[in-house]
Amino acid sequence: MIKPATSHSGGCQCGAVRYEVKGALRGVINCHCSMCQRLHGIFGAYTKITDADLSLIEDRGLTWYNSSNTARRGFCRECGASMFWQPAGFATTSIAAGTLDHTIGLKTIGHIYTAEKSNFYEISDNLPQYPGSVSGTLDRSST
Ligand SMILES: [Zn+2]
Repeated sequence: MIKPATSHSGGCQCGAVRYEVKGALRGVINCHCSMCQRLHGIFGAYTKITDADLSLIEDRGLTWYNSSNTARRGFCRECGASMFWQPAGFATTSIAAGTLDHTIGLKTIGHIYTAEKSNFYEISDNLPQYPGSVSGTLDRSST
C-alpha cells in the first residue's frame, strides 16, 4: 500500500499561483453550497490544512475575494483558477483539491450543504451527507 505523501504541492492552471503544503491533508469534502456552485460551476471539492503548513511559492496571480462576511476565497487573476477558501477567525485554509499536483492516498470523505445541491447531478457514493455545515465534524478524517 502506498502511504500518502506528507508534503504536497499544487498551483493554478497558468502557474501564477503555486503553493506547498507540509503535513497531512484532510480528506476531501464536497461542498454543494450555492456559492461553491457559482464559483466552480458545480460543487467545490476541498481538502484542508492549517495555515502554518501552507507556503506560497508563487503568488503574483493570487487575489482574494470576500465571498461572504465570514470567509474569503483566493483565485488566480491571470487564469481564473479557484484555489483557496479561508474562514475568518480560523487559521486554516481549504484548498481546492483539483489544484494539487498529486493526490495519491487522498480520498473524498463526505458531502456538506447538500440542501443547496443542484438538480443536474446526483451524489452517487455512500459517503456521509449533511444538509449544511458540519463545523469540523469530518476534520478528524485525515489522510
Ligand atoms: Zn493562474
